[in-house]
Amino acid sequence: MHHCKLGETQLGTTTVTLKRDNVTLVVKNVLAEVCEDCGEYYLSR
Ligand SMILES: [Zn+2]
Repeated sequence: MHHCKLGETQLGTTTVTLKRDNVTLVVKNVLAEVCEDCGEYYLSR
């Protein structure tokens, strides 16, 4: 759920960092809705 309600979200790609225990997994070019205002991203379903 988008919380800032100021920016529009646009479909684009982002880099997602997942951390589990001692492993950090970086996934690039993940399709997501990216907020133009705050830069927060929301993964597409
Ligand atoms: Zn936002």
